[in-house]
Amino acid sequence: MEWKTFDWKSQKVGQKGEVLDKVVYRCGFCKGAGLVSSKGNARCPICSGDGTVRVAAPAVICAYCNGEGRANLNRDISCSVCKGKGVVTIECKEIQNCTACKGTGKECNSGLPCLTCKGKGVVTKQITGAVL
Ligand SMILES: [Zn+2]
Ligand SMILES: [Zn+2]
Ligand SMILES: [Zn+2]
Repeated sequence: MEWKTFDWKSQKVGQKGEVLDKVVYRCGFCKGAGLVSSKGNARCPICSGDGTVRVAAPAVICAYCNGEGRANLNRDISCSVCKGKGVVTIECKEIQNCTACKGTGKECNSGLPCLTCKGKGVVTKQITGAVL
């Protein structure tokens, strides 16, 4: 089965919770523009103006910032979970929604990145009964 994870024209990176196995992604912080309009069209600090970032596969859309690469409280600051890329590396492809934050990547009270999934919104699938 082939994942359709990157459509450059529609700038759709993928679904939340979907495992992405590309290495190059559109930069979440500047949405691929390479420039940050809120900073007077300064060169994007995340992708150095390239509009693309490299994230080791497998990866998921950052749940904490919804792939936007920006901190919730101050949108001029890059997301601490994905470092502004909008995509974060995961340890393995067998993942499931984080039950602690229900896949949102946020601690429900503080709004800080979920401690269980580290803001990714997903955790490694617990395979019960499997002999490793
Ligand atoms: Zn950028
Ligand atoms: Zn993020
Ligand atoms: Zn979580």
